[in-house]
Amino acid sequence: MQPIDLRSDTVTKPTPAMREAMASAEVGDDVFAGDPTINRLQETVAELLGKEAAIYVPSGSMANQTAIRAQTQPGDEIITHEDNHIFHYEAGAPAALSGCSLRLLSGHRGFFNADAVRAALRPKDSHFPQSSLIVIENTHNRGGGTCWSIDAIADIRKVADEHGLKMHLDGARLMNACAATGHKPTAYTKYFDTVSICFSKGLGAPVGSAVASTTETIGRVHRFRKMFGGGMRQGGIIAAGALYALENHVDRLSDDHANAKTLAVALAEMPGLSIDLDGIETNILYSDVDSKLGTAAEFASKLKDAGVWMIATGPQRIRAVTHLNVSSDDIDCAIDIVRKCTG
Ligand SMILES: *Cc1c(COP(=O)(O)O)cnc(C)c1O
Repeated sequence: MQPIDLRSDTVTKPTPAMREAMASAEVGDDVFAGDPTINRLQETVAELLGKEAAIYVPSGSMANQTAIRAQTQPGDEIITHEDNHIFHYEAGAPAALSGCSLRLLSGHRGFFNADAVRAALRPKDSHFPQSSLIVIENTHNRGGGTCWSIDAIADIRKVADEHGLKMHLDGARLMNACAATGHKPTAYTKYFDTVSICFSKGLGAPVGSAVASTTETIGRVHRFRKMFGGGMRQGGIIAAGALYALENHVDRLSDDHANAKTLAVALAEMPGLSIDLDGIETNILYSDVDSKLGTAAEFASKLKDAGVWMIATGPQRIRAVTHLNVSSDDIDCAIDIVRKCTG
């Protein structure tokens, strides 16, 4: 039997129809802005996110980091959440590539509020780093795929405007937030100067992300994409997968959310696993693992031997993520396997 791979929504493989779209994509040299497929993708993304312009980049990390580099100076401080991707999973890039330190806020499920931002702002004094950028992640990965409230974002925007800060949205899974809440992407993105979005997560394309912003800022991002080594040539062949995903895989995200909920409800009943079901909003679920099942790593290894892959994200915490390549039958099957492993 094929393993049921719930490690991440990055593990998806392109569908036959997506591969066909990729194989027949028109291409050109994108460093010279001459790739028609990338150009079409960028126009589509700019429109979807309600911005003047967008740029295709190889990864979500590069999307975040070029946006950070384009809006900060070395010595600046970025206000963000202590569980954010830019802090944990981008290899220290804000320090290495932009010379910025991070001011980390805490808060339930990846959220923070305007008061916390206000309290973290640095006085304009030569002793201090300059607070210049706020980064919000939506949905929030380590928070459990949680969706930010638009009111909270609007309040933070007010503080940013009062103090001249920019705002970046790490929207790797923005489309999951939209599927879960019913909001249009622009309901969120209008509060942000820059927005990143990933095509290779729930959307199921093999490669790539984009940054959207004003034409001027995207011009700066373009330069940093080149500097960071992300200027691609006939990239249309992969951008075609991203376009295909935007055209065909957005509406099905709610299936992933339903699957995650079904899995969470079943796992929550099993001895040794505990899940906060209220926190299951999209396609990510975290469960605490009681030590009677071993460590999370030991339990994940037992699950893997039985045919279900999850990831240990802490000593006693595992994560499962639903996606395009996991059907509701697979979820039923995974539930049976996890039940056997907890019994
Ligand atoms: C996956 C992810 C990214 C980008 O990661 P890459 O591996 O560089 O594509 C960025 N932000 C969040 C919240 C993510 O989950």
